[in-house]
Amino acid sequence: MSVELRLFVCLRDNYGVLLHDSVSGATAAIDAPEAGPVEAALAAAGWRLNDILVTHHHGDHTAGIEPLKARYGCRVVAPAREASRIPLVDIPMREGDSVRVGSLAATVLETPGHTNGHIAYWFKSEAVAFVGDTLFSVGCGRVIEGTPEMMWRSLAKLRDLPEETKIYCGHEYTAANVRFALTVEPENSALRARAEEVSRLCAAGQPTIPTTIGQEKAVNPFLRADVPAVAAAVGLPNAPPAQVFAEIRGRKDRF
Ligand code: ZN
Ligand code: FE
Repeated sequence: MSVELRLFVCLRDNYGVLLHDSVSGATAAIDAPEAGPVEAALAAAGWRLNDILVTHHHGDHTAGIEPLKARYGCRVVAPAREASRIPLVDIPMREGDSVRVGSLAATVLETPGHTNGHIAYWFKSEAVAFVGDTLFSVGCGRVIEGTPEMMWRSLAKLRDLPEETKIYCGHEYTAANVRFALTVEPENSALRARAEEVSRLCAAGQPTIPTTIGQEKAVNPFLRADVPAVAAAVGLPNAPPAQVFAEIRGRKDRF
């Protein structure tokens, strides 16, 4: 494998990630919540920044773009549909586009809902995807700009990735997500096992990320809106999955 990854905390609960191609030496930052921690991670690894791969326009994912571009002259790769709301975009991306980081290649998946132009980056050969604020471990992003139907389709698209795909998301929200998920599926044994793992990791000050698609299918209520037992658990047996998803998302918003 020629890919190396570094995960680090930015701001309060955001994650920054560096993706490095050891063949070419190219390095990309996934989102840029703030410049300082990205620069520190680059310095610690001895890497130079070539690209920033932006998932969506929110400030906690973009505030570091200007200082990082000023320092490194890196390319800014970002969703075409949000290019006017993101600083210094060089390469606007749409569904199915590909982007290279050295010898590594990612496919862009449009995943609207949290924001209307949100995208994810899937490095198929490396079996890793960067999903921003669409999918979290045991949770999902708030539906701020889109509709629940749109968000459900976006989550279902990510769910279709191979189960071994490692998922890096934008925030460390897993402990709170687990507490909520247990209100929907208190008897889900995979969820209970994940809950124990998450408390252990959090107590040790360790990240709960990355997760995998296979794991999220088993524990994440937002990916399970089309499981009959989950629909029944929220009082909507036989309802369409998007409606079940909307109900679960609404409950989480009020949790
Ligand atoms: Zn966001
Ligand atoms: Fe965010």
